[in-house]
Amino acid sequence: KHTTADWQRLDAAHHLHPFTDYGELNARGSRIITHADGCYVWDADGNKILDGMAGLWCVNIGYGRKELAEAAYRQMQELPYYNNFFQCSHPPAIELSRILSEVTPAHLNHVFFTGSGSDANDTVLRMVRYYWKLRGKPYKKIVIARENAYHGSTVAGASLSGMAAMHAQGDLPIPGIAHIEQPYHFGREPDMDPDEFGCQAAQALARKIDELGECNVAAFIAEPIQGAGGVIIPPASYWPEIKRICAERDILLVVDEVITGFGRLGTWFGSQYYDLQPDLMPIAKGLSSGYMPIGGVMVSDRVARVVIEEGGEFFHGYTYSGHPVAAAVAAENLRILRDEKIIERAGAETAPYLQARWAELGEHPLVGETRGVGMLAALELVKSKTPLERFAEPGKVGTLCRDTSVKNGLVMRAVGGTMIVSPPLVISREQVDELIEKARQTLDETHRAITR
Ligand code: PLP
Repeated sequence: KHTTADWQRLDAAHHLHPFTDYGELNARGSRIITHADGCYVWDADGNKILDGMAGLWCVNIGYGRKELAEAAYRQMQELPYYNNFFQCSHPPAIELSRILSEVTPAHLNHVFFTGSGSDANDTVLRMVRYYWKLRGKPYKKIVIARENAYHGSTVAGASLSGMAAMHAQGDLPIPGIAHIEQPYHFGREPDMDPDEFGCQAAQALARKIDELGECNVAAFIAEPIQGAGGVIIPPASYWPEIKRICAERDILLVVDEVITGFGRLGTWFGSQYYDLQPDLMPIAKGLSSGYMPIGGVMVSDRVARVVIEEGGEFFHGYTYSGHPVAAAVAAENLRILRDEKIIERAGAETAPYLQARWAELGEHPLVGETRGVGMLAALELVKSKTPLERFAEPGKVGTLCRDTSVKNGLVMRAVGGTMIVSPPLVISREQVDELIEKARQTLDETHRAITR
């Protein structure tokens, strides 16, 4: 049996990790997670850790649901693989398409399957350009995204993302992509009313469209709430203004629901929370609760009608688009979410409790702001509350806080100096109490360590 040190040695020797500082990895070794159940994961030393991030914001129904393992086993025996190219199809993909048309907003009745959220956003870029070409407007091809957004790691996904470090490493973005500011109010324009701030941030879209020329812009893409960008919750005025600008200027609205889809905000989709009618809606993560890699783009009737009625071939697709085993597992995941009313219960009961308890952390001397919606919450680590002063190197304090948290038995994520939780939707009130207690202990220890 391998010890933790054995695993770490092998890992360092052969495994190139995504989004990991290799220097740090070599110096300290990786954290080896061996099994999971409910809202907990266990490491190779047997430590039990409350997973406050649901993996990577995805294990919405919690770990260890045998029904999903059984659905995979059944499907592997029946039809482990077939494709949907060249007029082929198969029951799991057809069934999942039908279920998705039921659970997503009413005007989204078509899905293009992918293997992940990144290739869902590649599909978005391809599809919006294809759509406008079919509509006789081939010059409408620029997609506008937002700074600090995360839309994936493929070349198109990373280009749509607004992360400076990704762009610098990859000589991105590719041509035909532009970025505007994010509606991030904390620490900026403190005297401005939030709604005024939200309107101004949305107006950046109108200004960018005017600068590029409306006739050249295909779409605007954004997450309802920016997740990996730091849980940036827009003021109430923001989305109505964005919707108005897109409609007025005939720009497709793409709402990236890879994180917010399937219950994260206490509603089935973030689009319902903010009353959005996206033309395209990328999904992944919670679609299978992370049990299988699968994503897709929900396509509105407006766009699908053009793509289908014009006929012709869309030269795009993946070997694993609608993979039967992944589709069967996703369908079972959606059945459980629906039958057990997991999203409705989280939205009505657990989420208000989590938010009320999370807000208590705002009194901590290290916390400049707490915020959250549904089962998503964040706090800002600050050097001083009044006057407000951020840390000179917020990333260092964030990493210290993150590591301290894991030591205390709670996974939190750090984005710079912002600490984030996004637990499984099935977390109980007692487990929320445990999460808050461990977060508070972590803040205390982090505070002591940096003021020592
Ligand atoms: N879009 C958003 C909003 C995401 O948060 C992510 C991943 O975190 C992606 C797209 C990319 O998804 P994937 O990692 O499945 O490629």
